[in-house]
Amino acid sequence: MGSKQIQIQGNYFNQQETGFIDKIYSHNKPRTYAELAPLKNIDPKKIGYLKSFFTIIKSILDSYSLLLFSLSTKSSKLKPLPKNNAGWQKKLTTEQYAILRRKGTEAPFSGKYLHETKDGVYSCAACGNPLFLANNKFDSNTGWPSFDKEIPENIKLIPDHSLGLERTEVVCSRCRSHLGHVFNDGPTKTGKRFCLNSISLNLEEK
Ligand SMILES: [Zn+2]
Repeated sequence: MGSKQIQIQGNYFNQQETGFIDKIYSHNKPRTYAELAPLKNIDPKKIGYLKSFFTIIKSILDSYSLLLFSLSTKSSKLKPLPKNNAGWQKKLTTEQYAILRRKGTEAPFSGKYLHETKDGVYSCAACGNPLFLANNKFDSNTGWPSFDKEIPENIKLIPDHSLGLERTEVVCSRCRSHLGHVFNDGPTKTGKRFCLNSISLNLEEK
């Protein structure tokens, strides 16, 4: 029983392999790396490395698309700004006005975004300015929604000496509404913990 050699796309294969090859080339659709590996001598470990590499690339592209999404919302979702406090009082609910315009703080563990995990952009509840990407949100166990990174151009930081404490207030750069405070004890690489009121935010889902 001699093994018959056949040539496919410049490579020689014996008869036993032919059945496998026929199967592969009988479909007019791309094959997976795993199926083609025996033909191309690709080490399965390398396939694993390739998959990890593409996963990283995908996460980078996802972040980039979210950033583009946040920039695209900038021009379309911005709301007109009231000219004075009376205007703000008319535009916002009593609770929103107390926190956004009078620097109040919502009760811990009460906010609607505390355990929110949906993808998208958190914008200013008062004016629509995009402020934080959902993939920068983390669970800080403090009772308030927390982020480790802001959209820098849309956030303004102000030294806050109230209550006998040295803190840094976080406000919207467009309408100056109060959002919360930022601390340098974050658990992630940025070291930042933006501690915010849910009431000050509005999640625009991706
Ligand atoms: Zn704003």
